[in-house]
Amino acid sequence: MRILEPPHRTVTASASFSSLPLSPATLENLELMGYQSMTDIQARSLPLILQGRDLIAQAKTGSGKTAAFGLGVVNRLDPAKLQVQGLVICPTRELAEQVATELRKLARSLGNIKVLTLCGGTAARPQTESLRFGAHVVVGTPGRLLDHVNRGTLDLSEVRTLVLDEADRMLDMGFYEDVSRLVSACPGNRQTLLFSATYADDIRRASGPFLLDPEEVRTESLH
Ligand code: ADP
Ligand code: MG
Repeated sequence: MRILEPPHRTVTASASFSSLPLSPATLENLELMGYQSMTDIQARSLPLILQGRDLIAQAKTGSGKTAAFGLGVVNRLDPAKLQVQGLVICPTRELAEQVATELRKLARSLGNIKVLTLCGGTAARPQTESLRFGAHVVVGTPGRLLDHVNRGTLDLSEVRTLVLDEADRMLDMGFYEDVSRLVSACPGNRQTLLFSATYADDIRRASGPFLLDPEEVRTESLH
């Protein structure tokens, strides 16, 4: 379970989002969200993410990793194309719901962006119905996402940004094979972002085939 920390403990960095190549509407939306400055991991990862680089990023829980990859996902969306352009894979349903909530907020400046969660432990048929109506971004857990891909109800051929969130936990939970199959269902020219709370060589080794010439960003920041 994620450890929630009060926001004032998570954010002490001073770099401004306005130093990034983001649209005025996106910057205004971040202000509305109360995000005045970037956290450490955001300041280190976002310049690379917005350049389109693949990235392995490590920062402790509560450090603002969701907005880091979330801004990457949102920034590459074409709102006019109702196809799955962003895919975020999470280890648990609870985390997937949290990520989807944050993505919906981050995407507000783009207009009507559809973010769909696809997790196990809940009926698949309503998810299939929702997929028929289309989504710009899908967030889910590995097993259920793969079920939809195998049934032909989830098409990942237009994915531009693939995020592996809490990659350390996904490995611990034995999701490697499922994640690997999902990665293979995405196009080769996608951007891949891997985020984790801990850093270990086995994560880097295991994820090697998923990433192309990745940058690595680590922070041991205590805030
Ligand atoms: P992590 O995924 O690293 O555990 P989260 O992405 O869940 O952390 O973020 C933790 C909290 O910090 C959330 O409540 C989020 O809204 C808040 N947060 C993230 N970035 C900022 C920011 N730049 N300014 C203020 N609050 C932020
Ligand atoms: Mg997180």
